[in-house]
Amino acid sequence: MTNKEKKRKQADPEAVRRKVETLIENFEAELRSGDLRSKVLALVPVFNELRRLGKALIPGEYASAASDRILYYFRQYPRTIINGDELLVVSGIQDYPRRVRELRVQSGWAIASGVTVKQMREDESEEIPAELENMKPNEYVLLGTEQDRDAAHRWNMANTIRKQPGSVRDKILKFLQANIGRGVTHEELRYVAGNKTEWARRVRELRTEFGWPIATKTTGRQDLGVGVYVLQANRQSPEHDRHIPDDVRSEVLRRNGYRCQECKWSHDEWNPSDPRHLELHHVKHHAKGGENAKENLMTLCTVCHDKLHRIAKQ
Ligand SMILES: [Zn+2]
Ligand SMILES: [Zn+2]
Repeated sequence: MTNKEKKRKQADPEAVRRKVETLIENFEAELRSGDLRSKVLALVPVFNELRRLGKALIPGEYASAASDRILYYFRQYPRTIINGDELLVVSGIQDYPRRVRELRVQSGWAIASGVTVKQMREDESEEIPAELENMKPNEYVLLGTEQDRDAAHRWNMANTIRKQPGSVRDKILKFLQANIGRGVTHEELRYVAGNKTEWARRVRELRTEFGWPIATKTTGRQDLGVGVYVLQANRQSPEHDRHIPDDVRSEVLRRNGYRCQECKWSHDEWNPSDPRHLELHHVKHHAKGGENAKENLMTLCTVCHDKLHRIAKQ
């Protein structure tokens, strides 16, 4: 008898299934007891064996609440990298990845997966935090504990816009304009673009060449989550203040402490009755030969920026 065969004999499929059933049956009590994860991790290897033998994982009646258990599990261990095998045990169903995706795009839970992180890298979207950099395709993490309740509505809107005629850039702008001041996710932008990887390049063009104030965590709004984009207002920056490369923009904002250099306004003070945002201004106007270099740029809020240009015109 080989070692492998011995192992297989020891893992009595019926006993394993009973263990999993007990865990799932008493899921909420287990959740409260605090050592749920160690129990789940202990079941992973035998559970995989059970699956290999083609046994039914859990009785059908438990499958309906599979998404709830996956969500409970994530919320119990936020910002912790969870292996897909754990979710297999917790949910008891093979197609748990689909449930995770639904939790993300329809219920608005900020769950990143190794696959979405890989997509972000391929699409050259914004910076990926170091702790997510090495995630494997079968790993997941709940990044924040707050639910984005508009997610389902936005997903439907994205689906409508993607089917309309027009260029990828037009569709992305339309989607952002339908959500002014509110965060949308990289996954939604990708979806609007018909899953074409060019979406991230189009977003950058809208920001740099067309002057739309589309902010992310690294380009102006530190308060935003990873992979979240916001069109801050329905206005384009003045022609002469465009074409600033993103790395220069990030550096100037950082240097100026994310504050208007005239009135010291920062986004923390934002309120609906005074909706401003930060723009970059060329000290020596771009049109008059002023460079797009960080030395020639300063951060201004839109109110001070407008005022400065009005004075300059007089
Ligand atoms: Zn200001
Ligand atoms: Zn200006």
